[in-house]
Amino acid sequence: MSDHYEVLICGGGTAGLTVAAQLRLADNPPTVGIIEPSDKHYYQPLWTLVGAGVFPKEESERNEADFIPEGADWIRDAVASFDPEKCAVVLRGGRRITYDHLVVALGIQINWNAIPGLKDVLGRPGTGVCSNYAFETVGSTWEAIRNFRGGRAIFTEPTTGVKCGGAPQKIMYLAEDHFRRSGIRDKCEVMFCNAKGVHFSCPHYTPALLDLCDRRGIEIRYKTDLVEVRHASKEAVFRNVDTNEETLLKYDMLHVTPPMGPLDVLKQSPLGNEAGWVDVDKHSLRHTRYDNIFALGDCSSLPTSKTGAAIRKQAPTTVANILADRAKRPATASYDGYTSCPVVTGYGRLILAEFDYTKEPCESFPFDQSKERYSMYALKAYGLPRMYWHGMLKGRL
Ligand code: FAD
Repeated sequence: MSDHYEVLICGGGTAGLTVAAQLRLADNPPTVGIIEPSDKHYYQPLWTLVGAGVFPKEESERNEADFIPEGADWIRDAVASFDPEKCAVVLRGGRRITYDHLVVALGIQINWNAIPGLKDVLGRPGTGVCSNYAFETVGSTWEAIRNFRGGRAIFTEPTTGVKCGGAPQKIMYLAEDHFRRSGIRDKCEVMFCNAKGVHFSCPHYTPALLDLCDRRGIEIRYKTDLVEVRHASKEAVFRNVDTNEETLLKYDMLHVTPPMGPLDVLKQSPLGNEAGWVDVDKHSLRHTRYDNIFALGDCSSLPTSKTGAAIRKQAPTTVANILADRAKRPATASYDGYTSCPVVTGYGRLILAEFDYTKEPCESFPFDQSKERYSMYALKAYGLPRMYWHGMLKGRL
């Protein structure tokens, strides 16, 4: 193990592994070190279907070791602090590693504790309180859906940005479909408590999704933010984000999309913007103050929806610009904000949203993707996972 790398990558998740793989496939590849504490890597997009009982959660899990590209070093520790003036990173274990280029790909922090009462019940069998947003809790979503016998099912979305903006509603559509197929739909009230003021971030797809909610009797409450869970009385406390007025809602099932934000290690570092996201140029992905630092994925300040699909386009831009720097060529690769959200609308149905910084659709298929289709569902359930494990993480897509 070296104490210096030509490219040092912080975080061996979707973004870190993809960049590492592409760098190592380049002609004259740089030395690459990946700092990643976890033994396991997860294909998180599958958690929507795991929560709906389509796949076991183990299907989303692989050994990290199997995706460290040949020739790269896996540094099994966590970043404790950044010293960008001296081109160095300090690890929790105390080691100090220096670099020529740094890639920050640390993901997003889930702030479960921001909702009092949630941690005490989340994922506990029989409580109906569940979340797709962690490997440890995703199994509880299917347990809650499967055992629901009627009453009120509430699905939440927080005020903060979240990974995969469509995920809070995807699991609701699947649950509603399951209730219908189980013959209990007339005994169920399905409610989407969305702290934001809009249903979906790309307006092109909003009418189709609102129409779907209307047809299927899903009640939407905007600007309604979950702030506390009182499980003893099976009540959730919501606060109106404009008026601060609080409302108590009884629940029988509660799927929580928790508040998220930048990692503490970034908030405390010189790399973050005011909020704590790594402050990068939205096209070049280069840091706005440190020329030899790049960031991509969920931890970055990029003003687009945080998805693995976005990373598939951000990674080649990052790699091309780093390689250009190393060859002393102009770094001209540019990312256009592309992101994609496969909005699963039921078992066997999906609207494939694709858009960029302009928030205009930029679709891959020669048909209207705002229509629900089985083919797009099959792509998500069977095609994309294979492309992820065998293509993207291997640097080939
Ligand atoms: P991650 O893949 O989370 O990786 C971050 C890595 O950093 C982790 O391995 C972590 O262990 C490591 N790390 C953390 N702290 C430290 C530290 N101090 N030092 C070193 N390493 C550290 N995307 C889609 O494209 N389509 C979808 O349909 C979709 N659906 C989703 C559904 C759900 C329920 C969820 C949760 C996500 C979904 N996503 C989807 C989003 C997608 O999974 C994420 O956007 C993507 O994985 C982010 O990649 P990343 O590399 O930025 O972060």
